[in-house]
Amino acid sequence: MARVIVIGGSFAGITSALEARRRLGKDHEVLLISKTDKFTFIPSLIWVPFGRRKVSDVTLPVEPIAAKKGVKFLHAEATQIDPEKKVVTTTKGDFNYDYLLIATGVDIRFDAVEGLGPDSGHTQSVCTPSHAEHAREAFEKFVKDPGPVVIGAVQGASCMGAAYEFLFNFEYYARKQGVRKKVDVTWLSPEPFLGHFGISGMLGGSTMLKGFMKVLRINPVLNADVEKIEPGQIKMKDGKVLPYKFAMLIPPFWGAKVIQNSPGLGDEKGFIPTTDSYQHKKYPNIFAAGLAVQVPAPFKTKVAMGVPKTGYPADETAKVAARNIAALIKGQGGRLHEKAFGKIPGLCMLDAGRKEVLIISNHLLKPRQFAIMLPNPFGDPSKWVFEKYFLWKTRNGMSYLP
Ligand SMILES: Cc1cc2nc3c(=O)[nH]c(=O)nc-3n(C[C@H](O)[C@H](O)[C@H](O)COP(=O)(O)OP(=O)(O)OC[C@H]3O[C@@H](n4cnc5c(N)ncnc54)[C@H](O)[C@@H]3O)c2cc1C
Repeated sequence: MARVIVIGGSFAGITSALEARRRLGKDHEVLLISKTDKFTFIPSLIWVPFGRRKVSDVTLPVEPIAAKKGVKFLHAEATQIDPEKKVVTTTKGDFNYDYLLIATGVDIRFDAVEGLGPDSGHTQSVCTPSHAEHAREAFEKFVKDPGPVVIGAVQGASCMGAAYEFLFNFEYYARKQGVRKKVDVTWLSPEPFLGHFGISGMLGGSTMLKGFMKVLRINPVLNADVEKIEPGQIKMKDGKVLPYKFAMLIPPFWGAKVIQNSPGLGDEKGFIPTTDSYQHKKYPNIFAAGLAVQVPAPFKTKVAMGVPKTGYPADETAKVAARNIAALIKGQGGRLHEKAFGKIPGLCMLDAGRKEVLIISNHLLKPRQFAIMLPNPFGDPSKWVFEKYFLWKTRNGMSYLP
């Protein structure tokens, strides 16, 4: 009997653990280890500051999902991985594995810029449930005492879609609260042009976003390189100073701390170098999925930025990695299944404040044969339909569904 350990209880981890179980049957053990025992549908966190969602609306306990399908669950933090001895050290003991699947997401680097982030800095974030709740309190305070607003991302960030969504939602809800006319709103971004998104843009994207910014009177600051953030002002490296009363800036993401702390496993930022089958380049019995996978940026920009690793590729890489582990355990010869990250289709809905933009491409990264950004003429149903569908499919352990 082989033991497969999956670390990470979110999009990539739950999908890969359930997929490994489905493909392997009951003859082998699948152990899911996660430091959070709850799954949060992170894309909906941008709605929490404005009261459109509570964190509890988009959160599920992981253990019952795993138990229903015969996956063992351990609520613990992995602190070290020894790839030579094939041991995962956790806060609840050491565990040997035959195959390891790393789906540990990211380490959120607020330390990239002095004064960044809600914990030891002055800006808001929506990257975690507690940050989104903190941003809600900050938004409520802002409505009572409005002033200049700066929203966007700092240099090195890769999650531009969430920053755009937050911007347009902020604009919409500030208008609803009757304070929008009293304040200037600035979009701050390392992108070289509006709608680059860390994927070199898409047909129609830049023009559409320029139009949105003009109509909504949002001032874009591009190629933005931030020196430091002080209470009430953001100092740029070119000497400009931006005043703010409310700021939400997405930081850069690195690979999880456990990878940074496990020598030989990750790159200098803690991401796992894999082949297109999501197998570790050096250790054939280790696989990775989701945000944990190393994806070098296939473009150069004046100010550094990374490639977005959204939910759809997290799901796809998890399925490929689990399928390959199952094939290796069952001794099914032949080549491993491959799906290059950049060739996974781009499928996203950008919530632009009670309207939405559909982002569709045959490949996430260039070269592409087809890529377009289109406003949805039927309003904004897709994101919340997708949220409900994804929570339903996860609650019922049906991760094999698209
Ligand atoms: C604000 C925001 C909005 C977003 N909006 C969208 C969107 O609209 N559409 C979209 O497609 N994508 C969106 N994304 C991206 C999406 O959330 C990610 O693609 C997805 O979360 C990746 O899943 P993952 O499983 O790889 O990593 P994560 O979701 O980060 O999960 C990592 C898991 O690993 C666990 N873990 C970490 N370290 C350890 C350890 N040492 N030991 C044990 N467990 C550990 C964590 O507890 C967690 O369960 C958004 C992201 C953000 C931040």
